[in-house]
Amino acid sequence: METAGERIVLVPTMGALHEGHLSLVDRAAQVGTKTVVSIFVNPKQFNIAADLERYPRDEGRDIALLNDRGVDVVFAPEVDEVYPENFSTQVSVSRLTARWEGAGRPGHFEGVTTIVSLLFHLVSPDVAIFGEKDFQQLRVIEQMVRDLGLRIEILRAPLIRELDGLAMSSRNVRLSAEGREKAVTLSRSLTKAVACAEEGGRDVEEILTIAKEELRPLIETGELVIDYLVVVDEENLEPIAVLSPEKAARVLLTASLEGIRLLDNMPLPRTHS
Ligand code: AMP
Repeated sequence: METAGERIVLVPTMGALHEGHLSLVDRAAQVGTKTVVSIFVNPKQFNIAADLERYPRDEGRDIALLNDRGVDVVFAPEVDEVYPENFSTQVSVSRLTARWEGAGRPGHFEGVTTIVSLLFHLVSPDVAIFGEKDFQQLRVIEQMVRDLGLRIEILRAPLIRELDGLAMSSRNVRLSAEGREKAVTLSRSLTKAVACAEEGGRDVEEILTIAKEELRPLIETGELVIDYLVVVDEENLEPIAVLSPEKAARVLLTASLEGIRLLDNMPLPRTHS
């Protein structure tokens, strides 16, 4: 609820900020009167302890970047402030979490929806912004807000890429120089899928074959391990077999390179006959 004419916008992050995060922050300034950015590496959403440990952190740099961007409040709580001893509650969204990140990372989305619920209660924003980089997460949050009747507007922010097309991610800094070069193959593969659909391709198997062809050399050497490469209905995130003008569809790709999990996705054009 708006108080005293303020429109508070929350941008939840796990820090190690890059231009992708900052694009959300800039959007927040456009749509609200006060921007709150949270920085919290949420242990509950990591299903592998080593992944949590290796997650990049640089709070000093993050705060400086956010100050430069004119952010009003940076909320960076400690783990035991957020989850005091005997914390026992979990927020869980079914269906949309069953596949993809949900299947590959048990407990991940429960961690996400629990922390986002807590942040919503602590900050009481009017608006919260989430990136399409994590498209499934965005859909899960939209569903949660709808189901619980939360009076928070969820805004979608477009995925921001490096100049060569690699989806910006805090995890990219963990790639070696060689790995970084190879990582661009993911977005190239998705671009091929989009091009196929733009040229009138409707058969998803055909679209995915073309996308996979781009990844094949790295798969064959064992450098790239695909977790999933799928075309889904944007609403229910279920796989679809044929593109149709009525349904927004998106190609999702998650793969590991140098043991680092990389996520990318692109919307497929609807304008096919
Ligand atoms: P994270 O710090 O990875 O939890 O991300 C915090 C927010 O920033 C989430 O809503 C992400 O979807 C969003 N985000 C991360 N990377 C990007 C990107 N490359 N483009 C747009 N949004 C992003």
